[in-house]
Amino acid sequence: MTKIQNIRSIRLSLPFETGGPRHGMRPSLDTWTKMECVMVRIKTSDGLEGWGEAFGHAMAPGSEAVINQILAPMLVGRDSAAINHRIAELERPLHGLGRSGPLMYALSAIDTALWDLAAQRAHLPLYKFLGGESGVLTKYASLMRYGGDTDAVAQNVERARSYGFRTIKLHETTIPAFRAARNAVDPDDKICLDVNCPWTVAEAREVTQEILEDGFHWLEEPIWPPEDFEGLAEVRLEGIPISAGENITTLHEFKLAMETEAVDNLQPSVTKCGGISMMRKIISLAEVYPVTVIPHCFYWGPGYHATAHLAASCLTPTPLETAFITFAVEPHNLFNSHSGQVTLDDTPGLGFNADWDELDKFIISTDEVNAS
Ligand SMILES: [Mg+2]
Repeated sequence: MTKIQNIRSIRLSLPFETGGPRHGMRPSLDTWTKMECVMVRIKTSDGLEGWGEAFGHAMAPGSEAVINQILAPMLVGRDSAAINHRIAELERPLHGLGRSGPLMYALSAIDTALWDLAAQRAHLPLYKFLGGESGVLTKYASLMRYGGDTDAVAQNVERARSYGFRTIKLHETTIPAFRAARNAVDPDDKICLDVNCPWTVAEAREVTQEILEDGFHWLEEPIWPPEDFEGLAEVRLEGIPISAGENITTLHEFKLAMETEAVDNLQPSVTKCGGISMMRKIISLAEVYPVTVIPHCFYWGPGYHATAHLAASCLTPTPLETAFITFAVEPHNLFNSHSGQVTLDDTPGLGFNADWDELDKFIISTDEVNAS
């Protein structure tokens, strides 16, 4: 048995530049200048270490507390290879903490780290361990919010294009900003609109009718609340492809989203829904519905690697969302927002390889639990 000997959480806050005016991701949120990430490192008795990531941002303190105070003490000393059993032993008795939020985010990190270890033991990069063949992926640029500043939107769309991105996603909510992006690129380039749940169904339908002829590639999370799949299905009938799924965390809700014909593109998030194990279930389930799985990936830690490996494991690799920002330091060997492509190498496991001499100064807090 390969025993779990040590679990360490590391919460970091990495400053970034956006190439434009700074805003919160939603109008109600503070200006965003740093991106928080909660990493987990699991050390085992065979001398390996596996990495995972829990959804961070404003939720980072909750994810961190659940790992340190609840999950890590329950896990140390147990067999790291029996992933299904480890996750069930945590998820089922703790469901009172909720079927989403910090518990599921923390479980996602643990699950991903266990899969990293399993692939390392098989001496395979994770995407090959999961049945993939090629590690070459196309990325799409996920721009920060420029608060409706049409000049900043156009400039940054052009900049993303100059780095080789042909699919570019905005986080704007105004029609002039949408059109500034559309007009800044070639007709063949794809512009996606992620509005982060601002509207009622009626408001979303009105916007959709107005932009129907502009050729946008998808409209993401147009309505509040995100679990109103019937409302989303109504908006979808207007004719613009709908993307959603980053705020869904249970298999039953993913099924409901597809059964109600609410989405064209399903966007599960590996740092939220339960890690590699759950992502595999969702990808399999989605095969029986007319949807495309395009994972959510607005983060930069081991979750970025996990999403890349999952994308590369699919028969038709899906584009890898990459935040279009420039960090104060290069966080690791894979994240690069200045290129529209990425290639996973043959390093066993996730291949997460951070430069801790650089990252160390951005650690907010860290804690560890050891097996007795
Ligand atoms: Mg989104």
